[in-house]
Amino acid sequence: MHDYIIVGSGIAGLYTAQLAARAGARVILVTKEAVEECNTRYAQGGIAAAIGAEDSPAKHMDDTLVAGAGLSDPAAVAVLCEEGPARVRELIELGVPFDTHEGEIALTREAAHSARRILHAGGDATGAAIETTLAGVVEHTTVDVRPWTLATEIILEDGRAVGVRTLDARTGERSAVHGRKIVLATGGAGQLFQATTNPTVATGDGVALAWRAGAAVANLEFFQFHPTALRLAGAPGFLISEAVRGEGGVLRNQDGERFMQVLHPDAELAPRDIVARGIAAEMVARDSDHVWLDVRHLPAEDVLLRFPTIARFCAQYGLNITKDLIPVAPAAHYMTGGVITDLHGRTAVPGLFAVGEVAMTGVHGANRLASNSLLEVLVWAKRLMHAPEWPMAPATFPTTFEVLEFAAGSGSQPFNRRSLQRLMWRNVGIMRDRDGLQQALNQLLAWHHAQPEPSSVAAYEDANLLLVAMLLTAAALQREESRGAHARTDWPHPRAEWERYLGLVKQL
Ligand SMILES: Cc1cc2nc3c(=O)[nH]c(=O)nc-3n(C[C@H](O)[C@H](O)[C@H](O)COP(=O)(O)OP(=O)(O)OC[C@H]3O[C@@H](n4cnc5c(N)ncnc54)[C@H](O)[C@@H]3O)c2cc1C
Repeated sequence: MHDYIIVGSGIAGLYTAQLAARAGARVILVTKEAVEECNTRYAQGGIAAAIGAEDSPAKHMDDTLVAGAGLSDPAAVAVLCEEGPARVRELIELGVPFDTHEGEIALTREAAHSARRILHAGGDATGAAIETTLAGVVEHTTVDVRPWTLATEIILEDGRAVGVRTLDARTGERSAVHGRKIVLATGGAGQLFQATTNPTVATGDGVALAWRAGAAVANLEFFQFHPTALRLAGAPGFLISEAVRGEGGVLRNQDGERFMQVLHPDAELAPRDIVARGIAAEMVARDSDHVWLDVRHLPAEDVLLRFPTIARFCAQYGLNITKDLIPVAPAAHYMTGGVITDLHGRTAVPGLFAVGEVAMTGVHGANRLASNSLLEVLVWAKRLMHAPEWPMAPATFPTTFEVLEFAAGSGSQPFNRRSLQRLMWRNVGIMRDRDGLQQALNQLLAWHHAQPEPSSVAAYEDANLLLVAMLLTAAALQREESRGAHARTDWPHPRAEWERYLGLVKQL
């Protein structure tokens, strides 16, 4: 019997694993592909923490609450902003090579942050620096790391999570691992949508595993669309970081005109949902599949120094970002909601924790503030180490729970992952309405009920994507308002009665 079974090897899995191992615990970490394959590795902009002389946790808290559009839990946000600076210092001590300026940690500003508080590494390669450093740290501990091992099910005994069933992704061999604490660190679900900045491993597995085990989920309807992913024929949905706008990049429509300043006083630095919708509307108005991001007015050497990864990636497709306009469009980016946890990462299922993008701690509310997600991982991973025994603490934010049953569906399309992604993009994407959501739910339910028992990694992922798609769509249908990242054309404004979380649970 191990102390911890950790599922996932992004920042959440690796950071938790090294904390536990260094405290003397016996840890197994399973991850479904190579260790470094995860969302973390692609993070560009950086990690937010109020460490600057002009900054304070209170200011960081205010910005986070504003971005969360009335649904960030103030108790969770206080924990994030107050404990964040100490956790970031620990990350520095672990060896993450954050960029410096004149001997001090360099801090940049991103959209909707009122101060320069974003630490970055390698210019725009923050996630890769964190992932590589933490993988190196874990390698020097006793953690038993098992790559190419898919977690397929949480093992329950008397209602308590006691282990994980696994499938070897290379041999197809089935196995099981047991531990006192099971930690889901499985990341997001960008693969739900046709256009995404997420890698292929982001298939919502953790939400599906936790749901089937009886945990509650919430806020999936607030899936965040990043305003600016590269939109170029033949190129993947590569992210063009918010920091590019933070450093002075501007958006232009097909006529070369700026358009964000008429939509929000902060123009290109408005909250993500507003910029994403502004771009989407501009694309519809001009019948185009992209707008332009322009950094040509900035000193070329500064751009290349600050954004080497973006410059290199674009150059592969013949774009010189210091001289050419960059074609960009919104793409699915971050799973704002997830498995409900308390302030110690405990889920509703005894023995089961969730940390990182898979978790819904209350921090992000209806819209995540840029660079808060990496910070949230560090803060909650540390708190998880000192979690009291179950039951999990009661909600610190108004929450109503609903038992969701999956009725029979109707829909004629045959299932494959691309059809699911297209349906989600079209009907459950940046702009939604009741009819489109209902139609999507009917088709998803029909697919779900026709799904055979999975036997391969891809089939497990498909089943997980389907389940998470149904949960997200059901929540988006119920939430009759627009708020943060959830925008409905038939309910275009926030409504006071929806100043709460909608927790979904399955019939046990
Ligand atoms: C392009 C991009 C840029 C970003 N930029 C920033 C930024 O600048 N700042 C910021 O704060 N956030 C940023 N984010 C968000 C942030 O990177 C993620 O929220 C964060 O890295 C999530 O970490 P995680 O450990 O929870 O998940 P991940 O890093 O995605 O790790 C999940 C792990 O779980 C494994 N896994 C999943 N399912 C299973 C299973 N069933 N069995 C076994 N293993 C499984 C995966 O293979 C992976 O190893 C960005 C995200 C993207 C995609």
